[in-house]
Amino acid sequence: MGARFSLESTLTCPECGAVKTETMPTDACQYFYDCTGCGVVLRPKPGDCCVFCSYGTVPCPPVQLEGREACCGRRRESLSLTAAER
Ligand SMILES: [Zn+2]
Repeated sequence: MGARFSLESTLTCPECGAVKTETMPTDACQYFYDCTGCGVVLRPKPGDCCVFCSYGTVPCPPVQLEGREACCGRRRESLSLTAAER
């Protein structure tokens, strides 16, 4: 199985404009990120699951694979919905 998604995302701080390329975890969403430029703690925008979806050039791996509806908490919701429909 090859990776069909990018694990690197470049975050841009909305406060100071610092850009930093970070490697994303595949097994969890990163909800907090400390800006390396100004030290502000970034949090996802409303409706986004992680800082990469809000501030990165590339959204997190589950979103890349299955779309923005599929990630994290929403992923769990949609899975249980699917199970209930069956
Ligand atoms: Zn910053």
